[in-house]
Amino acid sequence: MNVGVLGAGQLGRMLALAGYPLGFRFRFLDPTPDAPASHLAEQIAGGYEDPQALHRFAEGLDLVTYEFENVPVAAIRHLARRLPVYPPPEALEALQDRLTEKELFRRLGVPTAPFAAVDSLADLEEAVTEFGLPTVVKTRRLGYDGKGQWILRQGADVRPAWEAADGAALIVEGFVPFERELSILAVRSRAGEKAYYPLVENHHRDGILRLSRVAAGVRPGLQQEAEGYADGVMDALGYVGVLAIEFFEIGGSLIANEMAPRVHNSGHWTIEGAETSQFENHLRAVADLPLGGAAQRGQSAMINLIGTLPDTAAILRVPGAHLHLYGKTPRAGRKLGHVTVTAHDADELADRLTRLTGELGINSYTHR
Ligand code: AMP
Repeated sequence: MNVGVLGAGQLGRMLALAGYPLGFRFRFLDPTPDAPASHLAEQIAGGYEDPQALHRFAEGLDLVTYEFENVPVAAIRHLARRLPVYPPPEALEALQDRLTEKELFRRLGVPTAPFAAVDSLADLEEAVTEFGLPTVVKTRRLGYDGKGQWILRQGADVRPAWEAADGAALIVEGFVPFERELSILAVRSRAGEKAYYPLVENHHRDGILRLSRVAAGVRPGLQQEAEGYADGVMDALGYVGVLAIEFFEIGGSLIANEMAPRVHNSGHWTIEGAETSQFENHLRAVADLPLGGAAQRGQSAMINLIGTLPDTAAILRVPGAHLHLYGKTPRAGRKLGHVTVTAHDADELADRLTRLTGELGINSYTHR
């Protein structure tokens, strides 16, 4: 099976690592030379909208998938005329725009914060009056890790946010005073088989994910609710592959924030912590194979390595620590790798996490 992946970052790299035991081969397309996945497989260093690069990329492939949601839809449609491409272009298109994404949630009965499209300063002022302060303004496209986003706390914040957006299409949302951020990873195969990973709680700092772990203390029924929402979205979009949905938890309920049509950082723990990793299940789904179980094995938590590289030996001395480095040059705010710590029970996990965060010089991560 020859799999082509658009994007050769760490997600692509981990897809390849999961696919080799199944005998898959990989080719990547990414404009940035020496991308993380290029250390494992052929990378065509070309633009996503360059017809010649797309032609070379597609030659001899059995199917195409992608590892980031900002792939130009035109490139996906172009490839889809020649090869199976999953997740389907329609799903990518719906999820690239925060407005159509939220409209899809609304249509399917998935709860969201109140939201409205913003095409003028007057629209923004009107929404702020309606939703009250604080209010969150986001660019409809290309935002990630908190970029392209402004929290309006007072009336005087409205105009500067509008000006900073510099004409980009915007969405405005009511502010959700959430207790926790949770996500679910779901997967649907070409044959329509589905699997769901347990809800994960996510801790961010400066807009970047720092720690993910299977959520403790989830009220009975919440997992089924999250699965139902994912189920509805996957059916509506004819979805194939892994889908991540991020939620706010408030008063025991879920409010959907956003989705990603790809494997997701909050699912890296599944490599060691679940029966089948999100990466393997994504490949099984797109390659028309049976899915693997998504149940948790023991206890685990994942910590992202941001900006600086740790001392490898010190990390590996922590019992149950599994280090993943992505082959990137360190730079402030850059995801360079992650560590998943596994344990037999919650107490052992807490001890190991304390040791790991000590080694990493981090002391502020929640690890109940
Ligand atoms: P996003 O880019 O939509 O994932 O947002 C980045 C982060 O901003 C989220 O992880 C939340 O912590 C916060 N955030 C986004 N939207 C809202 C909202 N409507 N209410 C409160 N916090 C939000």
